[in-house]
Amino acid sequence: MSTKGTLYIISAPSGAGKTSLVSGLLEKDAQVRVSVSHTTRDMRPGEADGVNYNFVTLAQFDALIEQGNFLEYAEVFTNKYGTSRVWVEEQLAQGTDVILEIDWQGAQQVRELVAETVSIFILPPSREELRNRLTGRGQDGQEVIDLRMSEAISEMQHYDEFDYVVINDNFDQALTELQAIFVAQRQRLSKQRDGKRALIADLLSGN
Ligand code: 5GP
Repeated sequence: MSTKGTLYIISAPSGAGKTSLVSGLLEKDAQVRVSVSHTTRDMRPGEADGVNYNFVTLAQFDALIEQGNFLEYAEVFTNKYGTSRVWVEEQLAQGTDVILEIDWQGAQQVRELVAETVSIFILPPSREELRNRLTGRGQDGQEVIDLRMSEAISEMQHYDEFDYVVINDNFDQALTELQAIFVAQRQRLSKQRDGKRALIADLLSGN
């Protein structure tokens, strides 16, 4: 895949605050866009089709797999999720940076396909705080909370497959750390050599 932009993968267990951090990042960084995945799961209150996800049936999802529409896809606990290949390729080819908010299985697939990914794992600050965040508004029973906790722990087992780890204790601090990763990535030699070709040629010219 030809990539002028950088492909970022951000993964986290549910309850780590990934979605809020990515929203915060997008507000401050006009050079990056987020991929809207397809999913077979039900829409939650406050979500909109085409904004949070493209909500599809299982049959539609399977047809998209058949047609080779997905860059990666995975079954995450009980639902299926996939990333649109064409949209991501177009953005990267235009030089736009793209964020994929996907699970560890998708991250493994994308790393195989795209050599220069930057992957970030977001962790909660403590087990207790994670449990608090997964308890929500106190409407769910113990069994539901225990299930969410065990799903979160199974996602977190994969933290060490990622290039960066950000701990979301204080939101502003975590957002600053996340932004720093994006800023640093843009100053890498490979990016500057291509992006600042004319300047560098001029600086290095003999007279
Ligand atoms: P949720 O249903 O809570 O929005 O997301 C559940 C999990 O699915 C999260 O870990 C999220 O990162 C993951 N996920 C969302 N979209 C995709 C996708 O396109 N591909 C993969 N592999 N995982 C995804």
